[in-house]
Amino acid sequence: MITFRNVHKYYGTFHVLKEINMEVGSGEVVVVVGPSGSGKSTLLRCINRLETISEGELIVNGSSLTAKTTDINRVRRDIGMVFQHFNLYPHMKVIDNITLAPVKALGVPPKEARETAMMYLEKVGIGEKADRYPSELSGGQQQRVAIARGLAMKPKIMLFDEPTSALDPEMIGEVLDVMKTLALEGMTMVVVTHEMGFAKEVADRVIFMDEGRIVEQAEPERFFAQPEAERARVFLSRLI
Ligand code: ADP
Ligand code: MG
Repeated sequence: MITFRNVHKYYGTFHVLKEINMEVGSGEVVVVVGPSGSGKSTLLRCINRLETISEGELIVNGSSLTAKTTDINRVRRDIGMVFQHFNLYPHMKVIDNITLAPVKALGVPPKEARETAMMYLEKVGIGEKADRYPSELSGGQQQRVAIARGLAMKPKIMLFDEPTSALDPEMIGEVLDVMKTLALEGMTMVVVTHEMGFAKEVADRVIFMDEGRIVEQAEPERFFAQPEAERARVFLSRLI
């Protein structure tokens, strides 16, 4: 579903991604970890071309993101993204936050979009909040709305950028539970997170980044038990 081949990216003269090689297969859950500033968000944002790459090749769902013939809107349609700060529209009810893109971007009839939205709201456990405004919900509930909004576009890939980092500790579990369910259902997911419990339990593969490089890629059992890279060892030891 996602292939990075020798990808480099610069912000001006700053070399933010260096020689990135990685693959994410259909149904795989890849968790990206690493210190702040190591390029995790940039890596994720390249996948739906919120950022463009400077060198190399990036193929998403069969389309090369650098090819002139690629319709980026078509590619983006298959990718949902969930951010640290929910990014819900504050002036719109929960249900309207979810139906907006399907109606406007996909041309789904409003009634059908509402039914689909309700289905996903039930799925994330907050069907009763459909007519509330985001500010009337807890952080954990808002993030679950954001996930439902992503799912309502019926994506093939979901990207998560520190989805629980802005949440109070007691709300982290409810969001991780939704993500775990998605993973078990076979969604292709790339997740940037500091929740090592989630990585251990749900990831098929853990990618450790440092200073713009993928320093280590491994199955979680191996990564957490015996990280090969010294920098990964230091990173993990600081978390405990
Ligand atoms: P992470 O998500 O791992 O914390 P980021 O991908 O956000 O890392 O950032 C990696 C590096 O790139 C950081 O040093 C950051 O300051 C820098 N950076 C991020 N976005 C930009 C930008 N738009 N312009 C210039 N530098 C940026
Ligand atoms: Mg980040």
